[in-house]
Amino acid sequence: MLKISIVKNAYKEIEDVIGSDFISDKDFMKAAYSRNVDPAFPDRWADIIVKPETTEEVSEIVKIANKYKIHMVPRGGGADLVGGSVSEGGILLDLTRMNQIHEINLDDYYCVVGCGITWGSMLSELQKKGMTTGILGPGSGYAATIGGGLSNATVGFSSTKYGLTPDICLGVEVVLPDPKGTIVRTGSAANQYATPFCRYGVAPDFTGLFMGDVGTMGIKCKAFLRLFPDPPFKARRYYMLLKDDYNKVFELGHKLRKEVGDGLNDLMVFPFILAQLLSAQVVNKPSKRAKLTGPVVSVTLDATDERILDVYLEIVDKIMLKDDACRPFEWQEIDLDMVLSKDWKFTLKEEFNFFQKYISMAPPKSSCTTCHKVAISRLNESVQKGVQFNVKYQKEFPPGNPPYPVFASFLMFLPNGNCVIVGGLGGDNTDENRETTMNIWHKKIRHQTRYGGAHYWLGESISQSIVEAGAYTPEFMQFFKDMKKAVDPNYLLSPNKFHMYSYDHDYTEHLVED
Ligand SMILES: Cc1cc2nc3c(=O)[nH]c(=O)nc-3n(C[C@H](O)[C@H](O)[C@H](O)COP(=O)(O)OP(=O)(O)OC[C@H]3O[C@@H](n4cnc5c(N)ncnc54)[C@H](O)[C@@H]3O)c2cc1C
Repeated sequence: MLKISIVKNAYKEIEDVIGSDFISDKDFMKAAYSRNVDPAFPDRWADIIVKPETTEEVSEIVKIANKYKIHMVPRGGGADLVGGSVSEGGILLDLTRMNQIHEINLDDYYCVVGCGITWGSMLSELQKKGMTTGILGPGSGYAATIGGGLSNATVGFSSTKYGLTPDICLGVEVVLPDPKGTIVRTGSAANQYATPFCRYGVAPDFTGLFMGDVGTMGIKCKAFLRLFPDPPFKARRYYMLLKDDYNKVFELGHKLRKEVGDGLNDLMVFPFILAQLLSAQVVNKPSKRAKLTGPVVSVTLDATDERILDVYLEIVDKIMLKDDACRPFEWQEIDLDMVLSKDWKFTLKEEFNFFQKYISMAPPKSSCTTCHKVAISRLNESVQKGVQFNVKYQKEFPPGNPPYPVFASFLMFLPNGNCVIVGGLGGDNTDENRETTMNIWHKKIRHQTRYGGAHYWLGESISQSIVEAGAYTPEFMQFFKDMKKAVDPNYLLSPNKFHMYSYDHDYTEHLVED
């Protein structure tokens, strides 16, 4: 607990920097900022909420925080699912006023944006110029910001083709949490004579230090992002496997990648169980019950020319329908409100609304995400291990779980041998269940970590579970602490993540054997 006088003094000094309209310590504001989209956590109230507009203002706030030794947590859209952008006491930095597009450089294919801009706003502007950042950001893209996406190493639509959010990042302008509030630029922009047109070559890749850091290494204020011409022709097709066989999914994924190449924009797989759950839930059911046999594969293609798109569609059909492994599928077989794939048109609205349906299949449930990446060759094994865990520890799940402890689950293919297993567990969202839910959530993440899974948004719950699983060697943990100490000597930015409570704290206290 910070002394009230310290908070009051810091408040006054920050107010002098950013003005009284953009700082608050009122209870209703603290309550409004007390949560992410992760009901398993209790409410957490910051002492001060600030909304800076410029990098220089952030730097001044950081200096004041260091002067009074007050901890800080950065926040973008607050759409985190794992307790990342809330703060118990201290300063919560809402960065959503840093929402400008500073430059769209069509000659050199990059843009410069404030890290508080949402994916939706940025992409809508880029679309007008026929451009895209490739990856469209997370499913929460109307609320989530570029800063949150880079900090969470977000996976999203078009990730099959373009990779994770950091893969399109050429550099950042970042405020270090040190006593001077040091401002640095990374990538080619580290050369003060250069524009931010490329990431590597000027110095070591310090951009990477701030990617997927869940706001522990610095406060990202501007991002330099790659631009691509947006291929104007797009199509989506669905296929249902005739058997619930993930080895077959792996084989088909490989063939599509090899034979469709650059035209493969997104490849997703919806498990059999999800199709069954959805078919039980929809309002507008067809009179004839759908014959569901296995996972649904969703293939999204893009091309610069309609004739090329037609060739891609032909190749995909040939691969998917060979040896009767799959049949063409339409969501209308389950839900009459869905559009037929031949009528599908890409819209940002559809993409960003897509997840709402899956992220909480029953709203009064807590949604504890367990999304992680696995090597594609270990897809079947990982899916089986997930199922075995759910069966083995069924009794430890909170009451009110669906028959299978998933609230959402599908697979997304990424470049270079990665595959994301999206999923999570639920349970009745009540105060009494909080501890049970947290315990099984951490246990499941430890289990995934130990079979070699790599998560992406880490926030508090996931970063701590990885430490508990004993994933990091003592050497790695020391290196991590040393790197953080170099940028954050007073240990003020995003405490608690990774079970790191001070530089002297012994993380081995948190190891858990399951
Ligand atoms: C409906 C729904 C769908 C989702 N779909 C996806 C998805 O498809 N893929 C995916 O990866 N995630 C998804 N998420 C999770 C989450 O929304 C994303 O990871 C998103 O990128 C978070 O962005 P944000 O701006 O809301 O970040 P916040 O919640 O504000 O913050 C996330 C983390 O980043 C840090 N942070 C934020 N901004 C900065 C900054 N400027 N500098 C330093 N640190 C910062 C915070 O401290 C926190 O640790 C989804 C969530 C919901 C609710």
